[in-house]
Amino acid sequence: MLLLSAFAVSCPEHARLESDYFEARDRMRNLVRLRQLTKAEERQLADRVAMAIARMKEHEAEHGCRRQA
Ligand SMILES: [Zn+2]
Repeated sequence: MLLLSAFAVSCPEHARLESDYFEARDRMRNLVRLRQLTKAEERQLADRVAMAIARMKEHEAEHGCRRQA
């Protein structure tokens, strides 16, 4: 997995995006554990995680807030 949690980020917007990512990732993990997902469901959940990561990366690129940590 990515080492995102290893970075202490002081930017609140980044923290929000990061928690979105963790939430999406945890939801996917929990659902996978609970029951057999369809391919479509699995892809949808994976997309959410990927989008959360993309938003976070985009924010980092624009804001450069990871470096402040
Ligand atoms: Zn930021």
